[in-house]
Amino acid sequence: MLVVTCPVCGIEGEEADFHYGGQAHVRRPATTDPVNIKDEEQRDYLFIRHNPKGLHFERWRCDRGCGKWFHAARDTVTMDFKAYYGITEMPPLELQQQAKGTWADYFKSVAKAK
Ligand SMILES: [Zn+2]
Repeated sequence: MLVVTCPVCGIEGEEADFHYGGQAHVRRPATTDPVNIKDEEQRDYLFIRHNPKGLHFERWRCDRGCGKWFHAARDTVTMDFKAYYGITEMPPLELQQQAKGTWADYFKSVAKAK
């Protein structure tokens, strides 16, 4: 059983009290330039997700509390939540630095874009 804590209202509950919303930080490409979107970008947005063994970043919704969406960093091996953070926020820097593979690439690309 997963015990989840909402960072918005602070309620703590079982996994069934929350709604898993899939991978965090999925950006819809068509919002910035819908006319010139490439097929590969749209395919990746719809179907391609990270599936790491270890640190992963996810979206969750607080169903029995405030109803807000939020982000969580969770280890997929131990099932431990490492951090909760706002839906418009990035994870704590130390977790970004611990990320491996496609997540590490993603956080580096976001840092470069700033
Ligand atoms: Zn809540």
